[in-house]
Amino acid sequence: MARIVMKFGGTSVADMTRIKAVAERVKREVDAGNEVAVVVSAMSGETNKLVAFTREASLLHDAREYDTVVAAGEQVTAGLTALALQAIGVNARSWLGWQIPLRTDGVHSKARILGIDTDDLIKRMKDGQFPVLAGFQGLGPDNRITTLGRGGSDTSAVALAAALHADRCDIFTDVDGVYTSDPRIVTKARKLDKITYEEMLEMASLGAKVLQTRSVELAMNHGVRVQVLSSFVDMPGTMVVDEEEIVEQQVVSGIAYSKDEAKITLVKVADRPGIAAGIFGPLADAAINVDMIVQNVSEDGKSTDLTFTVTKADLDRTVQVLESRKADLDYKAITPDPNVVKISVIGVGMRSHAGVAQTMFKTLAERGINIQVISTSEIKISVLINEEYTELALRALHTAYGLDAA
Ligand code: ASP
Ligand code: MG
Repeated sequence: MARIVMKFGGTSVADMTRIKAVAERVKREVDAGNEVAVVVSAMSGETNKLVAFTREASLLHDAREYDTVVAAGEQVTAGLTALALQAIGVNARSWLGWQIPLRTDGVHSKARILGIDTDDLIKRMKDGQFPVLAGFQGLGPDNRITTLGRGGSDTSAVALAAALHADRCDIFTDVDGVYTSDPRIVTKARKLDKITYEEMLEMASLGAKVLQTRSVELAMNHGVRVQVLSSFVDMPGTMVVDEEEIVEQQVVSGIAYSKDEAKITLVKVADRPGIAAGIFGPLADAAINVDMIVQNVSEDGKSTDLTFTVTKADLDRTVQVLESRKADLDYKAITPDPNVVKISVIGVGMRSHAGVAQTMFKTLAERGINIQVISTSEIKISVLINEEYTELALRALHTAYGLDAA
């Protein structure tokens, strides 16, 4: 007997036909004698719809009311899934975040989980009841509903698996696993049987939107074995596991991309101590995340150009913050550019292999693709290029690193 958390994403619970199929899938694990807890997302498209309503109601929406609204989608699917399970003889009941409670901090609209009270859940599971949790939502210190950020029900599921010491956390989605690159663009992309937490973390944060990034961090920190698989086909997916579990590690495991980057250059900003702090401090205060940063060598010793990236959604706000600081920062101009894409080559094997970056630069050069910014970490090399070359760059790199399917 195993203890399993099964999480179903929006497309897996998109309508009643799908919800009934989910119930059957859960019943199989139940019939096999396993202890099962289910976590569900809202029906696909539902959260977007609710978010749009909040915008329509008020552009400057109160994040607490936003959470009250957008958490509603998961309440519906949790109840419907419990009903569908009951209809086929499984003793299921729904749980909302506040009922468990799943406690979070008070950062409404992107709250972090502080803890899950599992006593009641475990007691009832031992009595043969199967909980169906509304993902994405929790209870804040102000006693109000919080949500965990878009895609947050993955994090609900992994946190629950950690709290329940589950043997596995199966994340059911509409893709059958994690691929070496986006199969919609790179037709020769291959499904990976296993991927390390660290690689998955890089993939997840780079627009391979299979799992919410925080769910992978959480899985890594708590050693939760996560499987990404499809609820539409019946076959094993990709296991996200510890590095030790992977016997034959490729140097590069995947090529990811993110179109969610925007580039900003501060032209002729003063070149003296405190300027970087003067730029990035106010951005941090405005909760704007900066990703890549390059500062050019100063030609005259007085001023220099500084380029960095933020998410596309933060671009306008970033420009506003910088404009409000123009007097202090003493720059000549700001040039925002949303037409960029970040392409990343990822693999834990990079730690022990040289020449990985060179292959990337050479491949892009041969295609005439100009690199605007480069950043590296131990297991990743990223470049910022013109968005227009996304497909070309992904396919060329996939081939260059020997990832193409036979
Ligand atoms: N329904 C929420 C969203 O669309 C949470 C999730 O699906 O994970 O972002
Ligand atoms: Mg999702």
